[in-house]
Formats: sequence, structure tokens, C-alpha cells
Amino acid sequence: MNSKGLLIIISGYSGTGKGTVVKRLLEKYDERYVLSISATTREPRDGEIDGREYFFKSKEEFEEMIANEELIEHACYVDNYYGTPKSYVEDRLNEGRNVILEIEIQGALNVKELFPDSVLIFLLPPSVEELEKRLRSRGTETDELVNARLARAVVESESVYNYDYIVINDDIEECVDTINGIIPVEKLRVSHQRSFIKKIEDDLKAYKA
Ligand code: 5GP
Repeated sequence: MNSKGLLIIISGYSGTGKGTVVKRLLEKYDERYVLSISATTREPRDGEIDGREYFFKSKEEFEEMIANEELIEHACYVDNYYGTPKSYVEDRLNEGRNVILEIEIQGALNVKELFPDSVLIFLLPPSVEELEKRLRSRGTETDELVNARLARAVVESESVYNYDYIVINDDIEECVDTINGIIPVEKLRVSHQRSFIKKIEDDLKAYKA
């Protein structure tokens, strides 16, 4: 079987709880996934550590990473750059690890172009009412910012059709288990098994009449 890992992209509207879902997925199924740490130019929030949540970069450093082609993709989100480091992701995939990217929609669609075998999962809230409640109860954003994030969700909603799966984040454990259930099935896709199929095909040639 193909020993290459699967590239898994998880996106969702602000407030859907994707950070919590990804954290729980990594805790619960520790051996199965690794998380790619992005680079960003945004300021660290309280409690965030360089190299754990993000690699925090200056604008100049980030632009140098772009120029040196060190990123698979990058996007501008609310006036800051965010990008996925290339070597980490490629090395882990080649080692057979399943790599998770938790990134916004534009970056996700760019990654899909470059890695067509990647699987795109969009997390949805059970309802818009619940989404708004979650955003407001975080208490970290002003009303204006909450409204801006909801307005962005309106724009983003058009792109959900480009994803492979939607998973509803109502019950966290159920959501995590559903995502974990998608992965082995995705790995059986013919498109992901090309090299194994080719090996069998080549070995069969010995029996050609
Ligand atoms: P936050 O500032 O809240 O940590 O992240 C803002 C948005 O940027 C989130 O939607 C998050 O998924 C996205 N994001 C984080 N890292 C990356 C990345 O490397 N590339 C892209 N395109 N988006 C990212």
C-alpha cells in the first residue's frame, strides 16, 4: 500500500471551534497525525509561544520566506500574512505521516491545486445562532470584530462547495471521531494509491502471455 501520508486541510468560520477540534484530534489520536505550524506576521496573543502556535515573523522575514519559496502557500487575512512552511510538510508526508493544516479557505484551495490528493474538510457550526453565541462568549473580540468575522463568514460560505467534506461541530468528541473516520477511507482512493497500483501492474508483467 502507499506509505505516503495524507495531507488534511481543516477550515471553518471563525468561532466554529476548529482550534479546539484539531487540538483534541491530536490528543486523542496522537500517533496518527502531525500538525503543521504556520508562519505569521500577526502579534502573538497572550500565552502563545513562538514555534508552538505559530512561527512569529516580521513582515520582512515573511517576505523573504516567500522569495526563497519556503512556503507551500500564503494568504493575507485581516491585514496579516499567514503561510505554510514547505519542508516540514513535505518531509512528514514522505515519512508516511498524516499532516494537518488548519488554514483559511484561500490557502486551502491553493494547497488543493498543488496537492490534488489532499482532503479538504470544512467544519460547520450546528447553526448560525450557535456560531454567533460562540463568537460572543469568547469575550476576546469587540462587537465590531464579531460582526466583521460573521461578515467574513458570509463571503467564505460560497467556497464551502469546493471542499470534500463538511463536518458539523456540535459534540466535540463526535466531530473528532468523524474526522478520524474519514482518513482511512480517503487513503483507499485510487488517486492516492497510484504508486502501489503501478507496482502490482509492473510485477504482473512477468506473467504476460
Ligand atoms: P488566527 O489569527 O485566528 O490564529 O488565524 C486567522 C486565520 O488564519 C484562521 O482562519 C486560520 O485557520 C488561518 N491560518 C492560520 N495559519 C495559516 C496558514 O498557514 N495559511 C493560511 N492560508 N491560513 C492560515
